[in-house]
Amino acid sequence: MTVNLLDLDAARLTAFLADNGEKPFRARQVLRWLHRFGQRDFDAMTDIAKSLREKLKTLAVVVPPGLLADRISDDGTRKFLFDVSGGNVIESVFIPELERGTLCISTQAGCALDCSFCSTGKQGFNRNLTVAEIVGQLWQVRRALGAGQEQGWPSERVISNVVLMGMGEPLANLDNTVTALRLMLDDHAYGLSRRRVTVSTSGLVPAMDRLRDECAVALAVSLHAPNDRLRDELVPINRKYPLRELLAACLRYLEKAPRDFVTFEYVMLDGINDSDTQARELLTLTRDVPCKFNLIPFNPFPGSPYRRSPATRIRRFAELLSDAGVVTTTRKTRGDDIAAACGQLAGQVLDRTQRTGRRSFALHLDRQEVCT
Ligand code: SAH
Ligand code: SF4
Repeated sequence: MTVNLLDLDAARLTAFLADNGEKPFRARQVLRWLHRFGQRDFDAMTDIAKSLREKLKTLAVVVPPGLLADRISDDGTRKFLFDVSGGNVIESVFIPELERGTLCISTQAGCALDCSFCSTGKQGFNRNLTVAEIVGQLWQVRRALGAGQEQGWPSERVISNVVLMGMGEPLANLDNTVTALRLMLDDHAYGLSRRRVTVSTSGLVPAMDRLRDECAVALAVSLHAPNDRLRDELVPINRKYPLRELLAACLRYLEKAPRDFVTFEYVMLDGINDSDTQARELLTLTRDVPCKFNLIPFNPFPGSPYRRSPATRIRRFAELLSDAGVVTTTRKTRGDDIAAACGQLAGQVLDRTQRTGRRSFALHLDRQEVCT
């Protein structure tokens, strides 16, 4: 059986090559060709012995997720649509800024956790992405960006930050996520610092502990409610891991985290979780956890029962948190037209495959969100 080399981090690649009689340094060379230079043609890996190149041709392949489409919006945000087989389509979003470039990637096709305000949750769970599909989003986007060179940046610096905030719950696909993270951090692959890679979770407590032990990167936690009663409704996984356990897990995570705070994400739902009383309740709830807040104006989608909180309400809510000394940012509402265009694009592709009822994930992030 052939191996997809994009599925292997340094340790696995070393083991794979050792099984085939090769020395460990070969793994570093292969990693560099694959990830740093985006090369998939074994013949082009010129400093690798011809005998190994021939061996690789028979034993291995390099297969990233297929790039279906790529759109650039007016503000430079660029969306990539990938075919991950079986009719599943996922998206990555690249957000260029002067000082950094952030890529938002997906970890699952769909999501089983069914948060009531989330379009991905509403589409149900299709499957976990493989390591090659997770890290392959970086692989493909980097190649695409490198080809353009429009920012004039050295191509290996174009993606400076990665956030796992696209489709799916990264910690529900922990093994593949951790292997992909290791590749992102590996100096021979993407060489990102742990502070510049952020995992967002709805709060899978045991997996948070494992992430801390196996590959502690920056952490964002989707809180969305100041008490268990409301969180049970908005984020159903709360019934299994209630707030007290979740916040204790955040504290444990911080012992090994690359940053000294957790980012709490809080979606602003009109009349549901956005009152002054709830802001105060939130402050009391989180007072023992070093944290920042990121308020996310709700992104509506067809059939969703919620409305976005008015801008004045969001400002007031943010003020209450900031005045109490908690750093609070509000995600700038990016052009809904752009997010819609993104969703429509996935819709069109899926229509061609005669699948209905599935939609692209809502675009969850914008420039401000990644300013942690
Ligand atoms: N599953 C992970 C990561 C993906 S979702 C998580 O839940 O954290 C990334 C962020 O987008 C989460 O904070 C999520 O709650 C938020 N989100 C989901 N649906 C949204 C919507 N319709 N509008 C605004 N934010 C949304
Ligand atoms: Fe899944 Fe996150 Fe959406 Fe909840 S918010 S359904 S965990 S992707």
